[in-house]
Amino acid sequence: MIKLKALALVVLAAASPLAIAAAAVPDTVPGHVRQTKPAIYRFTVGDAKVTALSDGTVPLDLHQLLRGAPARTIDELLARSFLSNPAEAPINAYLIDFDGRRILVDVGAGDLFGPGNGGRLLEALAAAGAAPETITDILITHVHTDHSGGLTKAGKIVFPRATVYAGGADIRFFSDATNAAKTGIDKHFWTETEQTLTPYVTAGRVKPIEADGEILPGVRAELHPGHTPGSAFYSLTSKGQTIVFVGDVIHSGTVQFPRPDVTITFDVHQNEARAARQIAFKRFARDRALIAAPHLPFPGVGHIAADGSGYRWYPIEHIDR
Ligand SMILES: [Zn+2]
Repeated sequence: MIKLKALALVVLAAASPLAIAAAAVPDTVPGHVRQTKPAIYRFTVGDAKVTALSDGTVPLDLHQLLRGAPARTIDELLARSFLSNPAEAPINAYLIDFDGRRILVDVGAGDLFGPGNGGRLLEALAAAGAAPETITDILITHVHTDHSGGLTKAGKIVFPRATVYAGGADIRFFSDATNAAKTGIDKHFWTETEQTLTPYVTAGRVKPIEADGEILPGVRAELHPGHTPGSAFYSLTSKGQTIVFVGDVIHSGTVQFPRPDVTITFDVHQNEARAARQIAFKRFARDRALIAAPHLPFPGVGHIAADGSGYRWYPIEHIDR
């Protein structure tokens, strides 16, 4: 209990969006085992070979971070899933081999959360047999550290051949440090953007997304401002099958599937983020869409269905043969 309390305080004090400080996984909780090998999971969407890559997990103090539900309600929902606060948040990224391209969707936190908190993407890529210099395109769902931090290592470009796609509104918002004071959001988001995205901008390797539409053969971008001003979904379609990479339309499945009205402090525009989630969940449930989410339990791939006044998550079937 003392350990957990200390951990919660550590997470509360953290400067970065998802955690942070090297915190031991409490060994008193059965089922909590630190993964020793890089986690990857392969599946297909039409002709595309998709590999989920784990960048690691970080503890989140949901009492402090979620808005719109009291701690008591959050604890009840966690207990229903046999969990307790703080909850472990995965950071998932995705590799797509399709149509002669090698595409990454998000790149994890890199070194920016410190040792033991994310930053395992390159290990996972190596386990998938994909060298960084073979990546042709990177689709950033939004310019937050846990999605763009891995673009650079010690200020150097990690993916020298890649073109980086991101919402134009995000690039502008997080490149102008005066927005920190205007919004009251911690300025580390702007210093981290300077470290991770700016080297690619300087190298002429960034393509801002300004409107919905096809950005690569079979890949469509769709802007859904709210969590950040330029948050984007990316849909991949091959042979009539589609997967939607949804970014941070959801952080805690345990809480936000039954209560999609609950927001998180990282939502730049709270009301817009809530509305974007409600619209997206309704559509994904109606369309029986296959979705991939960075912060749902690895591999973060599955379907959602309406359930009473909220939704339920159905992870994809695990096939290993
Ligand atoms: Zn995130």
